[in-house]
Amino acid sequence: MKLAIMGGTFNPVHIGHLVCAEEAVSQYGLDRVLFMPTGLPPHKEIQNGAGPEDRYRMCVLAIGGNPRFEVSRYEIDKQQVSYTVNTVRHFRRQMPEAELYFITGADAVLEILEWKDPQDLLMMATLIAATRPGYPLDKISGSLSRFLTENRVKIMEIPGIGVSSTMIRRRVSERMSIRYLVPEGIRQYINKEGLYRQE
Ligand code: ATP
Ligand code: MG
Repeated sequence: MKLAIMGGTFNPVHIGHLVCAEEAVSQYGLDRVLFMPTGLPPHKEIQNGAGPEDRYRMCVLAIGGNPRFEVSRYEIDKQQVSYTVNTVRHFRRQMPEAELYFITGADAVLEILEWKDPQDLLMMATLIAATRPGYPLDKISGSLSRFLTENRVKIMEIPGIGVSSTMIRRRVSERMSIRYLVPEGIRQYINKEGLYRQE
């Protein structure tokens, strides 16, 4: 059983996240990808109108029809903000027989490897770092190289998707179209709930 966790705020989930997860499934033969929306301090959510339940529901809508994708409530149900390493440890305990992966984009992998002690995480899970437009990986290959040679971090080339949640929120607030940048169900959900209208 190859299980990957893909963490993020998913505020909102967009095609960049989905392409990234799907590429990981096909390139690494994963059985399951668990989308893990983060818990966030409440004041951060209220600013733009989307709460944890909205972010969770949009993830559920977005993965519909993909039998290998699932959404976890683990982090949003915790009262405090969780560290990736603790989340991975939880699933390590829950499924000791599973081979664990953690999927990130080229920007987020930097943050993870800059933690004081990435070894703990890398002992439990293989890190898959997806290419992302605007975040060249060569800049960090120096600090990464040790983990790359040890095969604990893998660089995954994916079709470049220059979409971010920040861009989606900004476009909604500026009344620009987000059609095709997010799955149709997400576009409708954002419209219906009136999310992100104020930046
Ligand atoms: P924000 O602009 O709010 O930071 P985001 O688009 O970066 O949103 P996150 O929820 O922060 O989305 O990202 C979750 C994970 O998905 C991160 O590891 C991030 O690097 C990755 N990711 C997001 N968008 C892309 C993309 N277009 N291509 C590759 N990876 C991506
Ligand atoms: Mg981000």
